Parts: sequence; C-alpha cells; structure tokens
Amino acid sequence: MRFNVLTIFPGLIEYYAGESIIKRAIAANRAEVKAVNIRDFTTDKHLCVDDYPFGGGPGMVLKVQPIYDALMSLRAEAANGEATQGHVVLLSPGGRVFTQSVAEELANCGKNLTLICGRYEGVDERVVEFVDEEMSIGDYVLTGGELAALVIIDAVCRLLPGVLGDERSKEEESFTSGLLDYPHYTRPAEFMGMKVPEVLIGGNHRLIQNWRQRESLRKTLLHKPDMVNCAELTEADREILEQLKEEIHR
Ligand code: SAM
Repeated sequence: MRFNVLTIFPGLIEYYAGESIIKRAIAANRAEVKAVNIRDFTTDKHLCVDDYPFGGGPGMVLKVQPIYDALMSLRAEAANGEATQGHVVLLSPGGRVFTQSVAEELANCGKNLTLICGRYEGVDERVVEFVDEEMSIGDYVLTGGELAALVIIDAVCRLLPGVLGDERSKEEESFTSGLLDYPHYTRPAEFMGMKVPEVLIGGNHRLIQNWRQRESLRKTLLHKPDMVNCAELTEADREILEQLKEEIHR
C-alpha cells in the first residue's frame, strides 16, 4: 500500500517513516511512503504556497493551485490516473473522526491513500472538490496536518499483512476485539513490592486466557463503558461482566 502525503514539511513525514514499524513495512515491501512537497508545485518565483484570506481575518491560507497540481502529479504517474493517488483525504478538524474501524477500512480497501496536510488557517476551501473525504484525528486543533497524517499511516500500516512481527498482536489489541486490551507485564516479577498477578507466572494457558478476558472486560467497563454495550460478548462474558459490576459497586 502506498501512502502519499502532500505537505509543505516533507522532512517531518520522512523522519517518522524512517523508524520502527513503518520503516519495517517499507523494507518488507508492504508499504511505501511518499512525501510530496507542495512547494515544488508553486508557479511564482518566491515559491509561495499561501496567501492572505479573502475577506480579511487572521492568518494565511494554503493556496489551491499548488495542492491541485501536486495531486495531479500523482495521477500522471499511473496510466489509469487512479492507482497512485487512491483514496484522497484532506486532513481537517471537522472531518470524519479517525478510529480503529476506519483504520481497518483503509487497510482493507485495496487502494493507496493520499493525505493532504493543511497549515496556518487551513487550505482554500476549493481543495474539498478534489478529495474523497475530510478526516480528523480528534476534536482539537493541531498546527498542521502532518501529525494527523502520521497517526493515520501508523495505525493503517500495522494492520497490513506481514507488517507486525506477530500477527496475533493486532487481533488482541484494544478496539479490534470490541474491548480494551488486557494488562501486560514483563520482568521483574516484583518491582517495589508490586507483584505480577500469580496466574501469569503459573504457565496454565487456559487460566491465563480466562484472566486476560476478565481483565479486558474490567478495563473496558471502567474506562470505556460505552464500548461494552456494543461489543460482541459470549454468555460467559456477560456473567463475568455482572460479577465485575457487583465488584466495582461494592
Ligand atoms: N482554522 C482551522 C480550524 O479552526 O478548523 C484550523 C487549521 S489548523 C491550525 C491547520 C491544519 O492542521 C488543518 O488545515 C488540518 O490540515 C490540520 N489539522 C488540525 N487539527 C486537525 C485534526 N484534529 N485532525 C486532522 N487535521 C488537523
């Protein structure tokens, strides 16, 4: 899967993509990250990507023409005009909120992903005409779209087949199963008097599995109770939930 990021700070994208999971995904030919510098598509001698807002007001606005031309350069790379740019997303605080299920949708759609990063007051509204959707990573305002692009690339990348060292990690992770992940521990077995739960050291896989499911339910009930109502639960899960509710209210 190829991720194209249209940005005026390509170095930010290249730096993050050069480490850890994304670096591994690229090395394994599972992913490609291309930072496209919007400034390369300016037409004036000052390489100007922004301008004052019509109507006045604070800040600057990213111009539509360099963004449009950067997008078209991706289309020009492929004979059918679609393959390289794939699904085009404008990063914007007002867009569809990015969640784990959106990450799964993007990872499984079989298309590349192009992310357009705004800066300053944002992008000229006419850019919206050239994108498939607007997307937000949460209800807050970032200085630019680069962090949002990296959040999306990171979350989607780790879902691509063969990217994680152990494929079971993503099956058990928070949100994938409809519940939050269970607590994890590693050595030492005791730290400042705090002991790792006995069951995890005992080696009985069935008991460990039961403990993890119970703790996953407990964590979700405590931190994200709304998730419990939507999760696919077995009869045994429901019984555990009732016990946990009693425990918590005691
Ligand atoms: N004036 C805009 C507003 O009030 O909605 C904020 C612009 S923000 C300073 C600059 C750029 O950062 C946006 O165009 C967008 O690309 C990106 N950005 C900011 N917050 C974001 C968020 N929560 N999710 C995705 N992108 C965001």
